[in-house]
Amino acid sequence: MLFENLIGQSVAKKILRQAWTEDRLAQSYLFYGPDGVGKELAAMELILALNCQSQSDQPCRQCNSCHKTAAYIHPDFHYLFPRPHPSSDSDKRKLAEEISEMLKEKEAQPHLAFNFGSRPTAISIDDIRELQERLGFLPYEGKRKAVLITGVEAMTTEAANAFLKILEEPSPTTNFILTTDRPNALLPTILSRCQKVRFEPLPQEAVIKSLVKDHGQNPRVAGLLAELSGNSLGRALQMTDQDLLAERDLAVKLLLSAVNGQQWEMVEAIDQIARDRGRPARILEMLSAVVSDLVHLKVAGKILNADRQAELSDLGKRIDQQKLSEMVRAIEKARIALERNVNPRLCLLSACNTTQGEQDAITSD
Ligand SMILES: [Zn+2]
Repeated sequence: MLFENLIGQSVAKKILRQAWTEDRLAQSYLFYGPDGVGKELAAMELILALNCQSQSDQPCRQCNSCHKTAAYIHPDFHYLFPRPHPSSDSDKRKLAEEISEMLKEKEAQPHLAFNFGSRPTAISIDDIRELQERLGFLPYEGKRKAVLITGVEAMTTEAANAFLKILEEPSPTTNFILTTDRPNALLPTILSRCQKVRFEPLPQEAVIKSLVKDHGQNPRVAGLLAELSGNSLGRALQMTDQDLLAERDLAVKLLLSAVNGQQWEMVEAIDQIARDRGRPARILEMLSAVVSDLVHLKVAGKILNADRQAELSDLGKRIDQQKLSEMVRAIEKARIALERNVNPRLCLLSACNTTQGEQDAITSD
């Protein structure tokens, strides 16, 4: 059966399995839902199944076609995702090499997200033109052509309009699967051309169980990973590669310097964090988890960062309830601002500056 290894998502699985077994897959799907809950894994499985050479009801992962698709090199499989768009030819070549390396890693660890550092990324009109050209031919090797576009909300307006034309007159041998965690950011005309399949947030027990059982995490770290990732298995797995505990310790240090009024240390740490594109969001998540522990300590509740209990208890005693509520709000506000592309440095400063009463630094955006 399809999706046997995909955790949770019973409704999405049921819809897609039924369409698959009854041979009435929609030509264009939009898988939407939070980050890291299985949208892309489900899409890849369906795409493998489309051209698998075995006669089984799920992809065999052994045949030539399955191998090529899983390695992102099948000529009938087109994979688009937000990426940088360098202008010089030598930068383009470097980027192509970089992407090819990332895809090799992704073949072994499909949850990996592309990491382009601080470079801005998008799906551009050139990407769509290239896709259009490649879709002009009949399938080379497979029965069908498959197009996977992840992070589809990152299409530029020009790209989205060009893509809409492709969706409006699709070749009957092509299937499209788009994924997004922000369906509201898509053109309504694109939304209306796709069958929408919702992917739900995962239950925390399921994420912890999978981290321990399928990915060999120690149960204590698995709990922390699940919590910090907002129960997103994909994000939790990415965090395991990023030395989670060191990042958490940095968040504690940041908080300490903020509370102690050590502005210089605080700003220096923030500058360093803000240089790396993925980090500000992660540190804000950690700050939020640490402050939430401080709140729990006030009512003698169980805390997540139990290994830092003594230090956090001490810190908690120095912050009163009202200040703590302000910090919770400031961090939440900073996370929302960051999602809206407010300057990461400003977001972090604003989250940490609560103790100095400067939490309104980002309200003007
Ligand atoms: Zn196969």
